[in-house]
Amino acid sequence: MQEWFVDVAEHIADGDPIYLACEECGQVALPPRTVCPDCAGRSLEQRPLSETATVTAETTIFSSTPRYAEETPYTIVIATFEEGVRLTGQLRGAETVERGEEVRLGVESDGDHWLITFTPSD
Ligand SMILES: [Zn+2]
Repeated sequence: MQEWFVDVAEHIADGDPIYLACEECGQVALPPRTVCPDCAGRSLEQRPLSETATVTAETTIFSSTPRYAEETPYTIVIATFEEGVRLTGQLRGAETVERGEEVRLGVESDGDHWLITFTPSD
């Protein structure tokens, strides 16, 4: 599991989600980077991220790796935050979700792995 992902997941678990933004041009970055993808600046600042986002895409997975066999089928959501970054997570608390719906960011851990989750917020 990648280090940045663990860092981002731990911030979500603490109720303090974050993303990075370039101090020079304002470009947002998540996954975090050390160099701005837009202007190659190196002044990336950690900023607080909203706890809710809007569903951009969703897809239901009917076959998966053995690790997820018990919870298949499950739904993957790509959600866009007002800050401009996107995260992919597993849908919780509903069978399906519509594009444009608001979802709440969450995270689960089994001790070894982190999983980003989205739950419909109303
Ligand atoms: Zn920049």
